[in-house]
Amino acid sequence: MIAVVRETATPEQLDQFVRWIEDRGFKTNVSQGDNETIVGIIGDTTRIDPFLLESMDIVDRVQRVTEPYKLANRKFHPEDTVIDCGHGVLVGGGHFQVMAGPCSVEGDNLRAIARAARDAGATILRGGAYKPRTSPYTSQGMGARGLDLLMEVGAELDMPVVSEVMDPRDVGLFLEKGVDVLQVGARNAQNFPLLREVGRAGRPVLLKRGMSETIDELLMGAEYVMSEGNPNVMLCERGIRTFETRTRNTFDVNAVPVLHHLTHLPVIADPSHSTGYTRYVRPAAYAATAAGADGLEIEVHDCPSRAWSDGAQALTPAQFEDAMRRIALIREAVTAPLEVA
Ligand code: PEP
Ligand code: MN
Repeated sequence: MIAVVRETATPEQLDQFVRWIEDRGFKTNVSQGDNETIVGIIGDTTRIDPFLLESMDIVDRVQRVTEPYKLANRKFHPEDTVIDCGHGVLVGGGHFQVMAGPCSVEGDNLRAIARAARDAGATILRGGAYKPRTSPYTSQGMGARGLDLLMEVGAELDMPVVSEVMDPRDVGLFLEKGVDVLQVGARNAQNFPLLREVGRAGRPVLLKRGMSETIDELLMGAEYVMSEGNPNVMLCERGIRTFETRTRNTFDVNAVPVLHHLTHLPVIADPSHSTGYTRYVRPAAYAATAAGADGLEIEVHDCPSRAWSDGAQALTPAQFEDAMRRIALIREAVTAPLEVA
């Protein structure tokens, strides 16, 4: 349930109102926008009489929120959330960023890849140090040494770093190393203890859509993180499993505008895992940009044939540079105000 507060309400009246609700055993979430202040009421709101709330001077109107996600719901928070990823890099609410780097951190080649990505316009460095591999016999990533390398290169290039954390027990290590954005991968999209742990960590989270997750389930994943007090969640469409076998996954470009409609959280698209093949990554990146994504996550490798993982979908630095030029043009086209004759 949300209560929209009258513009004339003073901060003291708002405080009093919030206390009144919390005294009745509910949690609240106050969203102060430019035009409206909204008090989200969380709990079994069937116990509250909406007419009683509406009779209060401070309340303009009351609306039930029937969706099971509350904190992630745009009704609770009509304005776009803007997330500060560190190093002055903002995502959401008109701030568009590209995260780029190799699937796996492999060693010193990270430097050249990161520099090329940054020079082409990437603002966040990605790289996996702990890799969720289908087979236990393939490379599992460099682990803590990989995080050190990522942080070293991120500092050299003044870029925040995003890296996947797979195990709730590793969250502390990621915080210690200073990883700026904690990625929760598709395979862990419904690992609820992990979602709670990254929620408690407070760092920005990049939450990927599970392979067979509905949009509502993805939003409930975000709700787990947010319910632990961490509002800094970015959602990532990275393709879903369908009957189609020509591509690694099926890129659900619809998810971008649908998520923007349902939630205030930034929406990132990952055209690399969505398609699985280098030749399709750029077109999917353009589609996501045109659909209004707040950012992209793209795998880049200096020598894809030697990559430890996901070489088949990596862009070379030259391909990435070409993509970035076109992405900038598409951004311009979709964000420029149209002149109405
Ligand atoms: C990745 O980003 O390298 C990754 C494993 O992504 P996903 O969880 O989307 O498969
Ligand atoms: Mn990958």
